[in-house]
Amino acid sequence: MYIFFILIKNNNGDYMNTIWYQPYKTYPTLKNNLTTDILIIGGGLTGILTAYFLKDTNKKITIVEARHIGQGSTGHATAKVTSQHGLIYHKLSKKKAQLYYQAMQYSLNQYIDLSKKYDFDLEIKDHYIFSKNISELEAEINAYKKLKIPYLFKKYQNNYMIGFKNQLQINPLKLIHCLAQNLNIYENTRIIKIENHSAYTHQYKIKANMIIVATHYPILKIKGLYPLKLYQQKSAIIAYKNIKPLDNMYLEAYGPFP
Ligand SMILES: Cc1cc2nc3c(=O)[nH]c(=O)nc-3n(C[C@H](O)[C@H](O)[C@H](O)COP(=O)(O)OP(=O)(O)OC[C@H]3O[C@@H](n4cnc5c(N)ncnc54)[C@H](O)[C@@H]3O)c2cc1C
Repeated sequence: MYIFFILIKNNNGDYMNTIWYQPYKTYPTLKNNLTTDILIIGGGLTGILTAYFLKDTNKKITIVEARHIGQGSTGHATAKVTSQHGLIYHKLSKKKAQLYYQAMQYSLNQYIDLSKKYDFDLEIKDHYIFSKNISELEAEINAYKKLKIPYLFKKYQNNYMIGFKNQLQINPLKLIHCLAQNLNIYENTRIIKIENHSAYTHQYKIKANMIIVATHYPILKIKGLYPLKLYQQKSAIIAYKNIKPLDNMYLEAYGPFP
């Protein structure tokens, strides 16, 4: 398991916000005990989308976020929405690969539907995985063929590229702040314990029929010894001013972000 953040210092030595950052609306902090039908812990893309898709169930839904919504990995992502997250299809059985592709395509369409209601800078672009070594891509190409997944193949300078057409790029923070508008959210509200259908902050108790943990990283620390399984991943970033934006999205086959 890995969690990674892009932290860049500015000229004053302070950490800069990510490219997605804007001074968005903030939400209140929990100041009393509460009872709710569904409690969602964590206000990242997972928590906010879950609440959004549950909002028509007529259940009382509450989201609690330890910091501000979107400030976890969601606010630090490169925000590609693609069915081509790395060289994955050749590693899966045919059935699992089919299910995975269907799920990815379904969610791609869900984002397109959301973009008809909300403006979160959705752009449609092709997505490519590239390598100088064609043998690194061959197994994946064979898997696409077996699964009948339509793909693009190009050679650009010394690189071979396999691609999927019409994938998406979004602004993840803008999206969750659009969706958050009518949700019941408490920020700066960290859950420290879950017990018997209740979640606890340092001071207050939230009783819920259903609790959904959407914290990306397990918050129940003892079971699984998860802190010991985390490791840091670092990578160089190059930023250029005044150049033509990239026309599509590109991922190196065995690059820093697998
Ligand atoms: C550098 C980078 C690039 C990425 N690029 C892509 C990409 O291009 N495409 C893609 O699909 N994915 C990408 N990802 C992955 C993607 O960002 C994440 O999978 C997704 O945003 C996870 O959302 P989440 O809601 O599960 O987690 P998070 O956004 O981390 O949200 C979890 C929230 O839970 C809160 N929380 C934690 N503990 C508690 C607690 N005890 N009580 C209350 N709240 C708590 C945190 O504060 C946080 O806000 C990238 C990630 C990174 C870091």
